[in-house]
Amino acid sequence: MRVNTLVLNASYEPLSVVSVKRAVVLVLTEKAVMEHADSAKLIRSATRELPTPLVVRLLRFVRVPYRRKVPWSRSGVLERDGRRCAYCGERAASIDHLVPTSRGGAARSWLNTVAACVSCNQRKADRTPSEAGMRLLIEPFEPKTHRALVLALGVSTAQTLPDWLTAAVS
Ligand SMILES: [Zn+2]
Repeated sequence: MRVNTLVLNASYEPLSVVSVKRAVVLVLTEKAVMEHADSAKLIRSATRELPTPLVVRLLRFVRVPYRRKVPWSRSGVLERDGRRCAYCGERAASIDHLVPTSRGGAARSWLNTVAACVSCNQRKADRTPSEAGMRLLIEPFEPKTHRALVLALGVSTAQTLPDWLTAAVS
């Protein structure tokens, strides 16, 4: 089983996901401290025995030079909207552009796309929701970076992460 470790900034904001080995090095070189660990699984270094770090926090604040964004994808939109049509709530397998791309709407924008079922998509056609008289059941949003990081960690959040972090990512 591949285990990864979540790295937090000194300010407790999730920064990235690294291998356990890398996380152990950060702790042993005193660049990071363990915030959450699996004490049932011990890791042996040359001089010490450590529990497997699941979350470590850097001791020095790292300034993130740009705001990382979650890249847009069709499957990401479907996942974000729970695979439910934004217009009728039925099962959705397609993507609708609120402002159609043929009319200048952004093609790969989280805010201009929602999950939609085929019949709502066809009914709406080349119109905006208001032109088509169709009400949105949800408000499209841009997924938070830290949510993507935790998903990348591949853990079931409720079980393996501490409460304060689960609250931050849910
Ligand atoms: Zn629908």
